[in-house]
Amino acid sequence: MPAYYSIALPVVLRTLFDYLPPEGHGPIAVGARVQVPFGRGNGRILVGVVCQRHQTQELPAKLKRIDKVLDDEPLLDADFISLCQWASHYYQHPIGETIATCLPKKLRLGAQASIAYPKHWQLTVQGKGLPDDGLKRAPKQQLALQQLRARGTIADDQLAEHGLGRDSLRNLAQKGLAELTDTPPNAGQPQAKPAPHPLTDEQAAVVSQIAYGAFSVAVLEGATGSGKTEVYLQAIAQVLARGQQAMVLIPEISLGPQTLARFHQRFKANIVALHSGLNDTERAQHWLRARAGDADIVIGTRSAVFTPLPRLGLIVIDEEHDLSFKQQDGLRYSARDLAIVRAQKADVPVILGSATPSLETLSNINHGRFTHWQLHARPGGASHADIELFDIKQESLIDGFSEHALTEIAKTVGAGQQALVFVNRRGFAPTVLCHDCGWQAQCKHCDSNLTAHNHPAHLRCHHCDYQRPPLSQCPECFGQNLLYLGAATEKAEQMLSEHFPRSKVIRIDRDTTGRKNAFDQLLEQVHTGEPCILVGTQMLAKGHHFPNVTLVVVLNADNGLFGADFRASERTGQLLLQVAGRAGRGDHPGRVLIQTHHPDHPLFTQLFSHGYRAFADLLMEERMRSSMPPFSYMAIIKVEASFPQPATALLEGLKNALQHAFAPNPHNQYLGPMPAIMERVNKRFRYVLQLKCSQRKLLHQVLPVAVHYLSSAKVPKDLRWSLDVDPQETP
Ligand code: ADP
Ligand code: ZN
Ligand code: ZN
Repeated sequence: MPAYYSIALPVVLRTLFDYLPPEGHGPIAVGARVQVPFGRGNGRILVGVVCQRHQTQELPAKLKRIDKVLDDEPLLDADFISLCQWASHYYQHPIGETIATCLPKKLRLGAQASIAYPKHWQLTVQGKGLPDDGLKRAPKQQLALQQLRARGTIADDQLAEHGLGRDSLRNLAQKGLAELTDTPPNAGQPQAKPAPHPLTDEQAAVVSQIAYGAFSVAVLEGATGSGKTEVYLQAIAQVLARGQQAMVLIPEISLGPQTLARFHQRFKANIVALHSGLNDTERAQHWLRARAGDADIVIGTRSAVFTPLPRLGLIVIDEEHDLSFKQQDGLRYSARDLAIVRAQKADVPVILGSATPSLETLSNINHGRFTHWQLHARPGGASHADIELFDIKQESLIDGFSEHALTEIAKTVGAGQQALVFVNRRGFAPTVLCHDCGWQAQCKHCDSNLTAHNHPAHLRCHHCDYQRPPLSQCPECFGQNLLYLGAATEKAEQMLSEHFPRSKVIRIDRDTTGRKNAFDQLLEQVHTGEPCILVGTQMLAKGHHFPNVTLVVVLNADNGLFGADFRASERTGQLLLQVAGRAGRGDHPGRVLIQTHHPDHPLFTQLFSHGYRAFADLLMEERMRSSMPPFSYMAIIKVEASFPQPATALLEGLKNALQHAFAPNPHNQYLGPMPAIMERVNKRFRYVLQLKCSQRKLLHQVLPVAVHYLSSAKVPKDLRWSLDVDPQETP
């Protein structure tokens, strides 16, 4: 019987497209990629994925033919397509674009789906015959010999993760002891090495009570250093022993060589890392290897949630509350939420780890949907830092620092220890103001101030990246009295260097860590343990161990508490705890000094006197009173255009249409249109309409109607709209 095919194509239209097979071609597998002509005059050639096959005597009229079939075997299995369909529906994103988002770029563009095994090192017969200490005099080669013996093979691009340099391997090769090959590595049964220490009762309870082979979500709550990773490692060992694969999702910032090394040390297994440092070819290759079953453990950031794993047995999400799990453009998915959906479909457990679980997750615990495990700090483990909320009302500040803070820093470095200063803005000064006439340096294209930077000297917009040379005088009144106001990392660095001329000051922010490996090099300096003062943004707060930091200073804790975003205080609390957790992780107890104008604010007192849970309970009450998530379900529609009017008009029209379609009821609320927090960015005006429903089901009845309205509305060419379901940031 003749057949035609429905194909998902990467276009904004929300439908599949029907095509005939190439002349004389046999059946095409669902999940295979094809190349098709598209658009008027067949002007474009697109790569799509076959989603359905229809066999019928009567073919629809006027179908075009597929140009070329790219895969003999399906590239995407039914599970993958069903996850994409779920995401497409849930986030109301076109199916073709959704599938395209989930695929590595190379494969999306049609590259051949074949695996080229990465070059890897192995011992020659001669090398295998050498006694264990046969290279005592060359310690680096000796180490390489031992590592190769222990592991069988080591990929050439993973040498660093095993603490090896390429030179020592080359030297071994010259002696005929090792060789570099690209034959498929002899995988063998993955093995877990014994844990370095027995699990605590709390840890053991989690590992043993998870039902492997069934869906469940276990929340693992514990401060940094309480032993969460150890639980992940042992749970993964269980899964590998069952012959299954594990997926580990972590925030970008924590996916460094240190983390990978810890996994490599523990497992003799194929570990595939998916992070932003990979090029497109590597990314596609890793994806293909995972799909072929040739990856025992996949560790990656947000987008790794789409990695196909035929024997998936466990998903771990570390720092589940982290904002980086939410994609902020295109398909605005939450990797955490998709991972849970995926686990549910595959019937496998999920572990969500965090020191500060999100309110959504806490609400799921309260409703009995997730189980909850608490890890208390181990004896001798992370010490509780001593926290001081220091009232800076009426204090005279020197570039943001109180006298008290400077004294504490002096004491710390004087005692041979390290201090960390947390500032939440990078650059030199967030505000440049004329003292004579009040003029402020603002971005030409946005409603935002320009931030002064000193290295090199310029003014820059942190929203659209507009830059201009530094000012020598006020452009309005030509006065010379320009003030550089507000605290930011560069100014703090400069001030500290002047104030403590004999101490090393190390700045860590996006500007000092841009170059490859720059971050790791700075961290290395810190790890020497020499007294120093670290200055940085929230990059410093996450995941890194600084055993010699005994004092943490938070320059200004108030900004976040009163942010325009309803999640601002939740995020601030999480961040402050994370920052505070940097102090006193070694042998010395730590101190945290938080400068604030509101030392008695209930959120602060809950957080620091009673802990994160008490803080979260307070926020939870607030959210309940204002029926905000997790007590309601939200989506935000954002429209941006070169002029305000068409944007607001579209949203007004949409709001009317929704009010018309859904009889007024207290369960659905449409708020707006209102200007985005920054109304103008990069010469474009932005407005939002907030949809809020008391039930998820209701929201998902409203969304398709909204999307239909927006897609069919007549709008100027330059207007763009986007939809964010479960938004994590208010635009
Ligand atoms: P987290 O992931 O919560 O930050 P880790 O699992 O990294 O915590 O543990 C912190 C440190 O404590 C690590 O050095 C780890 O080796 C050690 N550790 C973890 N569990 C135990 C245990 N049961 N006994 C002794 N040390 C442990
Ligand atoms: Zn002026
Ligand atoms: Zn700008």
